[in-house]
Amino acid sequence: AEIALDVARRGGIRSAVFDPGHGNRIEQRRRLDLALRRALTDGQFFLLFQPQVDLASGTMVGVEALVRWQHPEFGLVSPAEFVPLAEETGLIVGLGDWVLREACRQAAGWDWQGRLSVNVSAAQFRLGDVVGSVRAALESTGFPASRLDLEITETLFVDNDAGIVAALEQLQALGARIALDDFGTGYSSLSYLARLPIDKIKIDQSFVRGLPDPQREVIVETVLLMARRLGKLVIAEGVETDEQRRYLATVGCPIGQGYLFARPSAPEAIGLRSRQVDAA
Ligand code: C2E
Ligand code: MG
Ligand code: MG
Ligand code: MG
Repeated sequence: AEIALDVARRGGIRSAVFDPGHGNRIEQRRRLDLALRRALTDGQFFLLFQPQVDLASGTMVGVEALVRWQHPEFGLVSPAEFVPLAEETGLIVGLGDWVLREACRQAAGWDWQGRLSVNVSAAQFRLGDVVGSVRAALESTGFPASRLDLEITETLFVDNDAGIVAALEQLQALGARIALDDFGTGYSSLSYLARLPIDKIKIDQSFVRGLPDPQREVIVETVLLMARRLGKLVIAEGVETDEQRRYLATVGCPIGQGYLFARPSAPEAIGLRSRQVDAA
């Protein structure tokens, strides 16, 4: 309850972890880590799904799975709060396995043939066996690899690790596609794009949110040109207004994702229904 109060007052799990007012930092971390571990065994995590929409036709061609933590005291906790902590403690491996399996399990049951996108953090590659996890999730759920996108970020490449490239190539060999999330927010983006096993680029929402704006338009249009020349798909993140959607469609961005279309939602709220036949 102490932590919950603190979270409410300070507005974040991480501030509760690092608040010197509540015992020592290590002890607070341990409590939060324990709460996260319990969350996994007690089923406090759940997934929401956000549509990825073909900008020309308006069709929902994909959904991104986004994890949420419903804690009995903290309430609904954002992944911006707990994913970094889970990465620090290593729990991201178990949580990431759960997300992969649960996302594939749900998607395998939908009466909809679009793509499923799942976020995989650099810590999962570093601490776990992402290829094995993906293979296990696909095998146990029957979801086809050919409809799976794995969203990674540029932080994955900071160590220039050949093992990372090999893992991404193995994921592609399974039939999955690799999407580079938050594109434009990291460093050395240009050289990565040409060289690395990346199928899709997600233009970060910071470039989309400010549209219309001459500087951002230069960036968006340059990324589109580059992606086309390199044979990569593009998704614009953070599409919030119809003006942004129209601009993106005009300059040839094929797919968009954002609050304009839908917030991260329960599957039924975005028309994803179980393929189950009615009980006789
Ligand atoms: P992300 O992968 O870049 O996901 C997009 C985030 O932008 C989501 O926040 C989504 O709700 C938000 N968003 C989408 N459209 C709009 C819009 O039009 N306007 C604004 N302002 N925001 C929009 P969310 O769900 O809070 O997730 C935050 C981040 O947490 C994700 O960023 C991702 O890095 C991480 N995350 C979420 N779920 C998972 C997961 O299952 N595994 C891992 N490893 N990371 C996850
Ligand atoms: Mg993402
Ligand atoms: Mg993103
Ligand atoms: Mg992100």
